[in-house]
Amino acid sequence: MRERDGVPSPILKESSRELLPKTLKRAGKMLLELLQKDNLFSLLHRIDMDLARKHRHGRCPYCGSPLHQANYPRKPRGGPDSLPDEYMIRFSLCCGREECRRRSLPPSTLFMGRRVYWGCVILVVMTLRQNRPDGASAHRLKQLLGVSRETLIQWAAYFRDVFPTSAKWQRIRGRVASTVRDSELPGTLARYFIANSQSSEKGLIACLHLMATG
Ligand SMILES: [Zn+2]
Repeated sequence: MRERDGVPSPILKESSRELLPKTLKRAGKMLLELLQKDNLFSLLHRIDMDLARKHRHGRCPYCGSPLHQANYPRKPRGGPDSLPDEYMIRFSLCCGREECRRRSLPPSTLFMGRRVYWGCVILVVMTLRQNRPDGASAHRLKQLLGVSRETLIQWAAYFRDVFPTSAKWQRIRGRVASTVRDSELPGTLARYFIANSQSSEKGLIACLHLMATG
């Protein structure tokens, strides 16, 4: 991973810096501010375009035929109202062979599966929740981002029960320091990247990029 198209530089595995409590509190505030500005979304959109472009050069995983564009619109929640419609497109490809036509999804830093919130919103919210009392309460998150308590419970269950046992996490696990604990995902991963990046924004992007492509 080189510094290119907004993709951050690699995080050294040996590095195991963790944020101090005071820094953590400041970082939490900054993370919420990042979700209210277009810039983070613009950078992630560019990364997604690049990931889709690379994916397109591959072939259909089922029959080996060339892939065609088959993007579709999404209406993700939790971001600023000012975001242009072009960011709300999930890049997607489908097999060009008439008899196959199967969909092939490139990795995405903007979207986290079928969840209705932006991926960065989910990551920040979970990170702040795992960092209480410095982090945000469910009430505050509902006010700020419109995330309900039920949704918070669903996300927490996913990151507690499903993600740590996934093949993707097993691959990522080997690429980050051992201080990143399976029991505190995804907050521990986000904090690790933020502590080892030049800014909270870069750290967040690096984390989302690894979660998408790992
Ligand atoms: Zn095919």
